[in-house]
Amino acid sequence: MADRKGGGGSAAIVTGAGSGIGRATGALLLSRGWQVAFVDRDAKGLEEIAAQNAGNARVLVRTLDVTDEPAVVALVADIAAAFGRLDGVVNSAGIAADKHVFDTSAELFRRVLDVIVVGTFLVGREAARHMAKSGGGAIVNVASVSGLRGSKGRSAYGASKGAVINLTQVMANDLAPHGIRVNAVAPGPVETPMVKSLHTAADRALYARHTPMRRYADPNEIASVIHFLLDESQSSFVTGEIVAVDGGYRGAGIIVDPA
Ligand code: NAD
Repeated sequence: MADRKGGGGSAAIVTGAGSGIGRATGALLLSRGWQVAFVDRDAKGLEEIAAQNAGNARVLVRTLDVTDEPAVVALVADIAAAFGRLDGVVNSAGIAADKHVFDTSAELFRRVLDVIVVGTFLVGREAARHMAKSGGGAIVNVASVSGLRGSKGRSAYGASKGAVINLTQVMANDLAPHGIRVNAVAPGPVETPMVKSLHTAADRALYARHTPMRRYADPNEIASVIHFLLDESQSSFVTGEIVAVDGGYRGAGIIVDPA
């Protein structure tokens, strides 16, 4: 065997890779010797990544809407063929929705579920078909603490992340016989373009008040946990697990005032 899965030469697809957590994860995987397909609906971030990695044969950059089933089926097959293998998938594509339940239309609710739940399902399912043929691999879904707790204004987003958490557990169960591990990270607030456009100063104060570590994560702090969960040499017996990466938010009761 040339390498252990998750070591040098292994290949991963990262969705939502043009920005934020996905982009940081793709860059970390590259730095650890992986081949990485950066996939996103939006071409802008991908163009920068392509320019930064011009001539690097370990990098593929592709536009994809993860809700488009025929496009997902075709692109995952193309990427697996181009790399000659597929060992990991990171589902980071997502959209935010922060509205009171009275202001949440069925259209918005369906759109959020389509991108976050159906997209995560489709990319994971197609990648798993290829990984199953070559001895297995790992899937990491990017959930959220909003899928674990009832955060205000998060009916559509929270429901979608709750669904991703259960989907992670079901896929871990179905795919274990095929040598595929499926886990999720559940970040608290992370300094990404999504949050910069969404969180007001009042939101930031609220999060700080409820988070023992009193700050937002850097995207690299989420990427390193995703890498751990992808890497067979580090997490070979971890599957169906939801890892909160949240500065203590989920576990906290009454918070000690800053010194
Ligand atoms: P981001 O907006 O910086 O990146 C998300 C990327 O997903 C964008 O590049 C966007 O173009 C892409 N995308 C959206 N819809 C898509 C589609 N249909 N097909 C393909 N790509 C699509 O946001 P981020 O903060 O990096 O978020 C990444 C993931 O992390 C999301 O699932 C988000 O819900 C989750 N998350 C973020 C935070 C946070 O505080 N930033 C916290 C918890 C969970």
